[in-house]
Amino acid sequence: MVFQYSPYAIPLFLAAAMSIALALYALRLRQVEARVFGMMTAALSWWSLLYAISLSGADLETKYVFNQLKYVGVMAVPPLWLILALQYTQRRSVLTRCNIVLLFVPALILLPIVLTDQWTHLWWPENWLDQFGGRPVLAHSHGLAYYLHLGATYLYIVWGLGLYVHFYLRSQRIYRSQIVLMVIGATVPLAASVLTQAGFSPLPWGLDSFFFTLSSVLMALAIFRYRFLDIVPVARRTVVEQIPQGVIVIDARGRVVDANPAACALVQADGEAIVGRSLPEAVRSPVLREVLLQITQGEEDSPREHEVQLGAGQDKRVLLLSTTLLYSDAGIPIGQIVLVQDISERVAAREKLEALYRQTELERERLSMTIRSANDVIVLLDGDGKVLASNPSAQSVLRIGPDGLSPPALRAVLEQARARADFAHAEVEIDGQTFHATASPIPGTGLVLTMHDVTHFRQLAHLKDEFVATVSHDLRTPLAAILGYAELAQLEETSEPTRQHVLKRIEVSARRMTTLINDLLDLATLEAGMSLNLSIVQLGELASAAIEDLEGAALSKGVSLEYQLDVQSPVEADARLLMQVWRNLIDNAIKYTDRGTVTVRVDVEGERVIGQVADTGIGIPSADLPYVFDKFFRGKRPTTDKTIGTGLGLSLVRSIVEKHGGQIRVESVPGEGSTFTLTLPLYVEEVP
Ligand code: ADP
Repeated sequence: MVFQYSPYAIPLFLAAAMSIALALYALRLRQVEARVFGMMTAALSWWSLLYAISLSGADLETKYVFNQLKYVGVMAVPPLWLILALQYTQRRSVLTRCNIVLLFVPALILLPIVLTDQWTHLWWPENWLDQFGGRPVLAHSHGLAYYLHLGATYLYIVWGLGLYVHFYLRSQRIYRSQIVLMVIGATVPLAASVLTQAGFSPLPWGLDSFFFTLSSVLMALAIFRYRFLDIVPVARRTVVEQIPQGVIVIDARGRVVDANPAACALVQADGEAIVGRSLPEAVRSPVLREVLLQITQGEEDSPREHEVQLGAGQDKRVLLLSTTLLYSDAGIPIGQIVLVQDISERVAAREKLEALYRQTELERERLSMTIRSANDVIVLLDGDGKVLASNPSAQSVLRIGPDGLSPPALRAVLEQARARADFAHAEVEIDGQTFHATASPIPGTGLVLTMHDVTHFRQLAHLKDEFVATVSHDLRTPLAAILGYAELAQLEETSEPTRQHVLKRIEVSARRMTTLINDLLDLATLEAGMSLNLSIVQLGELASAAIEDLEGAALSKGVSLEYQLDVQSPVEADARLLMQVWRNLIDNAIKYTDRGTVTVRVDVEGERVIGQVADTGIGIPSADLPYVFDKFFRGKRPTTDKTIGTGLGLSLVRSIVEKHGGQIRVESVPGEGSTFTLTLPLYVEEVP
């Protein structure tokens, strides 16, 4: 073999070197496309290299052999190129093992023919050397096998180009330049080779070498500039096809241009039938159709997100449709992308959360209402004693200052609770009121202070003490008198008139005790819910009987007793109890009038019977007026202190009147007298 320097081989060597580099780079990558591309560039580099060597051959034989060996690469390129085109244009399903083998069949048949050409001359019937530019070049005539190869190559090229063009038209703009580079890069050397082989080249070798170099550069560009092997456009489709979110592309008229399987499943539309149809028409659910109509007819400012609920109960699903308007380069809206997501779980969780929030809010509101409307004082304090929250009762009772709660007694309770980390309580006096204060520590927050007003209980306890003292005094005094008088009556030297007087005194004392005991018992039975012994009585008649009983007492005090009684004053009442009312009122009037008049009146007004006891006595101070009907209440005045009483009379009167469905009130001017007025329902006989 003889070689010589040929300048025409240099670009081919360079192209081969570049192709080898590309092949090595691509073969290292993982994608199948990269592997096929790597194999194809490897075949191209073989082609370039062997061609370059053939050009560098000095004699016919050398040139002939390397030109022949070149065909190992030449034959492999078209099928690899077509496989790459099929992969690149998303037609991988065609590439079964069997089909791949089929694609290589022409090469497998034709390659042995080229390689055995020196004996068969089926490829090149004649070979000779021509002179070009002072260098020998290989020239040959072509046989049948060569033309078969040419035909097969044309077929692969046209087929592959068709795939690329179709794909180009369906692809996103950003991928188009890449596809163009790929197509040109891959097609140029093939086309150039075919043209050269077909004898269209003005130069016998120049076209090939030039285009091989160009091809490598273009492909390198496609790879490095657009990183084709990292993110092939195919990936976009694959991603869109496989993501769980639904993607629907609609044109300006609402017709579906594209929809991924997830979208079809979510909107329950047939994947094949949906494309080309109006989106609202393609779905079955009327609710969804309604929303899609809104979206497809939507203005630019219409909402971009729609929640649609499909089905109910167990089958309930919630879809979120988010739309994005698509604009042309000129800014004209050309369609929309509708993203469909199944947000049922999210919505269920949200609804649960909302229900929980509402429940918590309701409970919080209830709690806050309870605390707000509580009569007790409730205050929440932090660890330093600063007030964090307080209810209205607390605000009206306590002076809440910036440095905590002011009454020292309160501070003491709080300190105690804090020191013991346990609740502490104490009785606290604030502005004449007595409170039972309890401080309880709340871990992590501070303390809660509650105060219950026990003023009333304290007063009651005090009144009870007074009552016990009064009652025991009131019982002991007549008892002592009875005992004394009884002893006196038994003495022999006691004269008969004195004995009679003594016996009278014993009777008076015994009566006083009886009255007191009766009052106590009546009040107790009334409060225990005793039932009334009802009959129709005339209130005027009862008043008259009471006046008769007490006339003596009035006379002895020099009080004149006047009355004006309507005899026809029927009420349905317990006569014994109403008698007690009159007796108590008239007795009090006489008791608290030193000189003057006590007037008793009974009138009928409409459907009410009004009874009144008015005196011109000492009257009741206005401060005492609200309490005169309370149990055990007795006016504190030197004059009244001398009078005998239990403080039970008026409370008994009120209990009796109210039990009969009536009311009682008092008006009084100190020093001028008092008027007690009671009202009872008039008894009206029902006419059958
Ligand atoms: P008591 O008369 O036994 O003290 P009551 O319940 O009958 O108890 O009366 C309560 C108080 O009301 C009396 O202590 C007195 O101060 C006052 N009071 C009642 N009636 C009159 C009246 N007619 N005039 C002035 N004060 C009265």
